[in-house]
Amino acid sequence: MLNSIAVMTSGGDSPGMNAAVRAVTRTALHAGVKVWGIRGGYHGMLDEDMFEMTSKDVSDIIQRGGTFLGTARCKRFATPEGRMLGYKNLNDRGIQGLVVVGGDGSLRGASIFSKETGIPIVGLPGTIDNDVWGSEYTIGSDTAANTIIDAINKLRDTASAHRRIIVLEVMGRNSGYLAMVAGISGGSEYILVPEEEYDLDEICEDMKESYAKGKRYILMVVAEGAGKGNEIGKIVAEKTGLDTRVSKLGHIQRGGSPTVIDRVNASRLGENAALAIISGLSDIVFGFDRGHVVSINLHDAVNNKKKLNPEFMRLAKVLA
Ligand code: ADP
Repeated sequence: MLNSIAVMTSGGDSPGMNAAVRAVTRTALHAGVKVWGIRGGYHGMLDEDMFEMTSKDVSDIIQRGGTFLGTARCKRFATPEGRMLGYKNLNDRGIQGLVVVGGDGSLRGASIFSKETGIPIVGLPGTIDNDVWGSEYTIGSDTAANTIIDAINKLRDTASAHRRIIVLEVMGRNSGYLAMVAGISGGSEYILVPEEEYDLDEICEDMKESYAKGKRYILMVVAEGAGKGNEIGKIVAEKTGLDTRVSKLGHIQRGGSPTVIDRVNASRLGENAALAIISGLSDIVFGFDRGHVVSINLHDAVNNKKKLNPEFMRLAKVLA
């Protein structure tokens, strides 16, 4: 059994990371294990920006978006020298295992770090994109989807008043998950995702027909990886001749107080991560499968690409 561990958040922040860190920390302290917080992702490990945490350090954070530990992208950690320095800094403090909460890139870094140094690592999927292989859920994806829905509700009001076409660009460079779930739950007519080809000419013809039949407005949700909202909006306006407006939500999607789902799921994942790492397990990521917490091999998680659920794609078309 390990007697001293560290926890960090890395890469893009996501709502619920705080709940995860809180759960890791309190579970470990409850088991009599020391917990270090590493600030600013892998940067903090390399720059020795870490501190031993008490239960109080994680109080009053479960309701906050972002991550109180801070996060960053760290180029030095992508080099073997950088990782060796990180390992030395952990060793110097007697830290025997690490919990990394982050996206695909952060988990990839963790996978390499554990292979190279042998330090036990447990990962938690923390990203709004919901694109970590092996888990149906990632921390923050529910809050982000709800943020988009809130925007869609408001955009619908004004779109309807003016008989406009609204093109809404949402986050998702490689993953159409957010666009798909927000599009389905926001009643969007068209959802463009990077995982699926689309024919804009055909869509524009379809839009014109719908308007001719009396449709009051149209909502199109575009994942950023499927195209730039502005460019798509321009083409739609030209080809349909209809009043078209583009909205880009941007970083608003990353923030906000986490939903109940993100808080509870992050807490459950955090507890599992702490119990696993202190019992000496390594190279696993905890995620969800059909509502249950499951462990996934860390290397499999980063070496496979998660596919967008085809059921979503089918349903979106049926309901449009
Ligand atoms: P996310 O975790 O949100 O996907 P990034 O892809 O930016 O974010 O990754 C976050 C950090 O993880 C990087 O800045 C880097 O320090 C580390 N990382 C990512 N990929 C690798 C890699 N192949 N090798 C080592 N470290 C990596």
